[in-house]
Formats: sequence, C-alpha cells, structure tokens
Amino acid sequence: MERNPRVRACDAGGMEREAPVTPGDGRRRIPRTDVLLADPRLTAAAGRLGRGVVKAAVVTAQRRARAGEIPVDTVADAAVAALPGTASGLRAVVNATGVLLHTNLGRAPLSAAAREAVLLASGATDVELDLATGTRARRGRSALAALLERVPPAGAAHIVNNGAAALVLAATALAPGREIIVSRGELVEIGDGFRIPELLAATGARLREVGTTNRTSPEDYAAAVGAETGFVLKVHPSNFRMTGFTREAEVAELTGLGVPVVVDIGSGLLAPDPLLPDEPDASGRLAAGADLVTASGDKLLGGPQCGIVLGRDDLVRRMARHPLARALRVDKMTLAALEATLRGPRTPTAEALHADAAVLRDRAERLAAALRDEGVDARAVASEAAVGGGGAPGVVLPSAAVSLPEPYAARLRRGDPAVMGRVEDGRCLLDLRAVPEARDTDIHAAVSARKGI
Ligand SMILES: *Cc1c(COP(=O)(O)O)cnc(C)c1O
Repeated sequence: MERNPRVRACDAGGMEREAPVTPGDGRRRIPRTDVLLADPRLTAAAGRLGRGVVKAAVVTAQRRARAGEIPVDTVADAAVAALPGTASGLRAVVNATGVLLHTNLGRAPLSAAAREAVLLASGATDVELDLATGTRARRGRSALAALLERVPPAGAAHIVNNGAAALVLAATALAPGREIIVSRGELVEIGDGFRIPELLAATGARLREVGTTNRTSPEDYAAAVGAETGFVLKVHPSNFRMTGFTREAEVAELTGLGVPVVVDIGSGLLAPDPLLPDEPDASGRLAAGADLVTASGDKLLGGPQCGIVLGRDDLVRRMARHPLARALRVDKMTLAALEATLRGPRTPTAEALHADAAVLRDRAERLAAALRDEGVDARAVASEAAVGGGGAPGVVLPSAAVSLPEPYAARLRRGDPAVMGRVEDGRCLLDLRAVPEARDTDIHAAVSARKGI
C-alpha cells in the first residue's frame, strides 16, 4: 500500500518521540526506534528488505518488551530474529498434506530448472527482442516452440494467465454473441464458487445446453448446431466422477458437425499418463480431432500458473490477435518458468505422482526412528495421497507418513519454513508423497525444534 511520504515522516517522528512506556521503577528503558535501526544488522537488513519491513520488526519487538515478554536489552536481537527471509509476506511451505496439487499452497511447485529460469528472466531479458538483429521479436516464442515440440498434433499455441482465461478468450474471440454448445453433464464448478458456464456467459456468448446430466449423445450436439453456433465445448469433469447410467460423446464423434470442437482438458497433461487413465491429454484430444485444447499450466503439467491453448493455427491466431489477448497475456517470468518446465527434467509434480511407495515407506521409517531417538512420539504409517487441485478425482496414491501427536499440526504450520501436514484420527500426519526427499531434513529439523513447545 502506498502511503503519503509526509504522513509517513510524521508517523515516524511520532514513533521516535514517543516516550518509552516503562514505569518509573528503575527498569531499563526500551531503546528508541532510531537507535535500533542504527544496529548494523538491522541497517544491512533494511538495504536488503526495505526500511518498512525492518521497522515493522523493530516495532513488534519494542511492543513485546513493553509487554514484558522479552528483556529490554534484547529488543534488537528479537527484531533481527523476527526479520522475514524476503520482502514478501509469502512464506515457504513444505507440503506434507498428501495432496500433490494443493490449491491453497499454490498448486504445482516449480522445478529447480524453472526457478532458475524465473530468476534470470526477472531482470531485463530478450522476451520480445531478437538480439541477433536488434529488432522486435514474437513475445514468448521459445516457450511456444517448446509447447509445440511436446504436443506434435498442435498447429499453434498461445499462452494466457490461467485455464479460465483460455476459456474466456476462446469464447470472446470465437463465439462473440453466438452460441457455445455444451453438455448438461459438463457444467462444472471449478472451485471457490467459480463456475465455467457463468464464466462463459460473462463474455456475452450464449450457452446452448444439450443432453441431460448423466447422458448426452452425439445426436444431441448435432441437433443443436446451427447458424448461431460459435463452437462445441467439451469440459473435462476434472473434480468429480459420474458413474452408472451415463453416456458422453467422444471428441471423435463430434468432429463432423462443421463447427470447431474446443476441449477444456483442465489438468494440462500433454501426453497420456498410465497412472491416470481417465485424465485426458492434449496430444490425444487433438489427435482425436479436437480443433482446440485449453488447459492449466500449474496442475499436472507441473509448471507456473498459466493457461495454454493448443490447436488449429487459424483459431489460435484469432485468439492471439483479439484485443482481449493483451489483457490476458503472461509475464516474462511465467514464460521462462513454463519453457523450463517443458524442456527441463521431470517436474516435482511428476516426481511425486510417480514416487515409489516402498521408497516413501523407507523415508517415513527413517524420519520416525530419528525423531523417536529424540523422544518424540513419532511412527511411520501407511497413508493415502491424492492428486488434488481439482484433478484425477478418486485416484488414490499409496503413500507413507510420519504420525505425530495432533498438537504438532499447528506448531509446524507456524514455523519457517512452515510444514503443512493433515490431521487424521487425532494424529498429525506428515505425508511424504509430495515432499521432495531433499526436504526430509527440513521436516526433521522443524519437528525437532518444536518438540518442547
Ligand atoms: C482447473 C480447471 C479450470 C480452471 O483453470 P485455472 O487455471 O484454475 O483457471 C478450467 N477447467 C477445468 C476442467 C479445470 O480442471
């Protein structure tokens, strides 16, 4: 939040003039803010984190001293100890929930390759410049090339802010004021109250619902196609499963209708994964005849938050050239992270998905034994992990966890890095499937540091 500098100076003055609230009982006075900020450790931190962040830590430490929580001669130390690692309020979390793509933890964690690429791209970079000729170049061209290499049936690609933006752009560019034909069985709520039909309607396109909740046939789509049709939309029901007396029209059954078929696959699998037989993949849907596929970058693709559009060159171009495309375009750091995710080694998400249950069990046993040696009531237990992030519902991934007394859940959550487990049957479970093995030492250290609390 921006603040008027004059007001800030005034605030600071007020703070610095403020008489220390120590009773006249001979106790030492709380050091003044300007004196504390002159501490070399805090001066250095102000250069790295910004004066406001350091001052906030100082004020908190003064308040704690005033409340008698810490001795007055340790205020500077307390302020140093309370300094955040970065100037951002976001804290690092070890995801021990057993949910691979945890929405509240920012879905997919980036690979080391992607993080390095982000760091490099965060400065001035040739995102829209051809350094060989010194002329303007297509933004994100190497990320787009990487996408097309991974999805050979796609003629072209475009990248937007998220999966929802890809749908909005498709509806706006390809069905302005026209109809989008969609099955009643695929009117999906993504999460947090956001519903795909409402998202599409917000663009001014009209939804033409066909079929019933449980059964929609190719003939239902065919009967609805007409002069008003913008495209047929298939939405993957990514966060629920329908079983019993059901019928869904396959993409291949909809290709002869004379209108584009757009498939929202959701999770961003680029090629089939044998572990997830029910998850549609971009290559497969395009090969089956879809004209366009839309997906998220930060679900099973394992990359940064973004939305991906793949498919017919003329349709992708219409979307990319629509004025709204500018409002939905991604940052250079996203382009860098996506390309490094596509070209780099296996993502943390893929590692977690394919982790061997026996290896997880060994890790849990080793961690639990080491903690027991320190007097912690820890044991290794079998656990069940899930893909999450609104993906692969019903898929159970056998896993292993370190089981601790329940109070650890809150204690570990408040640490730095925070360790986020889950509470089950009165125990705090730290599920290792989504935890890279290199972080086991962080879990050990976090539990160890909080055993006496
Ligand atoms: C997740 C999802 C979306 C929304 O994608 P965001 O990247 O969260 O905007 C849309 N459709 C399907 C089928 C999804 O699974």
